[in-house]
Amino acid sequence: MTSTIHIPREALYFLELEEKYGAHNYHPLPVVLEKGEGVFVWDVAGKRYYDFLSGYSAVNQGHCHPRIIAALTAQAQQLTLTSRAFHNNRLGEYEQFITQYFGYDKVLPMNTGVEAVETAIKLCRKWGYQVKGIAENKVKVIVCQGNFHGRTGAVISFSSDPTAKENFGPFMPGFESIPFNDLAALELAFQDEQVAAFLFEPIQGEAGVIVPDEGYYTGIRNLCNQYNVLMVADEIQTGLARTGTLLACDHESVRPDILILGKALSGGTIPVSAVLCDDEIMLTIKPGEHGSTYGGNPLAAAVAIASLEVIRDENLAAHAAKAGEWLRSGLAALESPFISNIRGRGLLNAIVIQHPHKDAAWELCLQLQENGLLAKPTHGDKIRFAPPLMITQAQINECVSIIEKSLHSLNEV
Ligand code: PLP
Repeated sequence: MTSTIHIPREALYFLELEEKYGAHNYHPLPVVLEKGEGVFVWDVAGKRYYDFLSGYSAVNQGHCHPRIIAALTAQAQQLTLTSRAFHNNRLGEYEQFITQYFGYDKVLPMNTGVEAVETAIKLCRKWGYQVKGIAENKVKVIVCQGNFHGRTGAVISFSSDPTAKENFGPFMPGFESIPFNDLAALELAFQDEQVAAFLFEPIQGEAGVIVPDEGYYTGIRNLCNQYNVLMVADEIQTGLARTGTLLACDHESVRPDILILGKALSGGTIPVSAVLCDDEIMLTIKPGEHGSTYGGNPLAAAVAIASLEVIRDENLAAHAAKAGEWLRSGLAALESPFISNIRGRGLLNAIVIQHPHKDAAWELCLQLQENGLLAKPTHGDKIRFAPPLMITQAQINECVSIIEKSLHSLNEV
């Protein structure tokens, strides 16, 4: 399939540099961005786009949110990093703020999402040995098929995506995979007394926005209580108002034992992640047993407080719930023969493309780019639609028109 989209001359220079000097571990759209504000980004030729990826849900509050940037720049001029060898005057207040915000005893601050997942796994293992009393080196963590929790060696060990794993072995043992959205399989897995935890995404994002049945979170909570297993929710993508509630688990008023956050915790500015849980779990890790040079730095602390304040003060969760309805109903009204499924919750959505050509989803993303909207396919035929959360109804309507126009181009493919 050959596309006819126009790539501005200004962009070619940057595309060539990345191709020549950068690792080829991504396959981006051919767009080079230089500015962002709210729901919009601009390329190096000055063309404006709606951002329908939001940095994989890191930019929930919108690009360069003034309040977050103000907190970032003020703290950057004061103190950025102490390491945890010393205390700093921002960390304690941040720890108080975030634990009260989410209702947990303690937080362990990290940087990227996958580091927070690794941290949670270490906590599960410690808890499994020290509190549950599982024999040495026997702890198991149950995970879901189709999961995405990041890219480190430990985390890809339990991925079911061959692209993530091939030629990266040997892998870390201690994980068992079951189907997502399957409480019977979960209960069967829990028959093994060496199971310490169940790690899951409330909605599987990278897999193509797979929303489980109503009652799944409640069922997990009940089984975890019954079998003394930790419920570990990776809300790195689903959390922080993205799905129309503060956390996706809030849809069923369920509280996980371990909550993992990342991405929008910094509003898309710097890597900030966090693991939250109560003392029985958190205090199993002692000084020297875990850490990170940048984790808990004062810059991250200041930025995370501002990011969480924006989510609360701008009612982003309630707005995302409404905006998601506008988007999905707008897409459904198109009645496009090329869309076989529209799904999602809040502003974490996906469409599934049906078309004889296997690259049709990629082609559609190129046409969307041409028409002023940026989105990216995941797993071949799915396209995620996840704009910043403050998108207005008029903007959604305009985006649906862009999508409609772009879909027409698939007639010619
Ligand atoms: N967990 C989930 C659910 C994610 O969606 C992601 C990233 O997309 C990660 C973990 C990894 O986060 P990071 O890329 O910041 O390491």
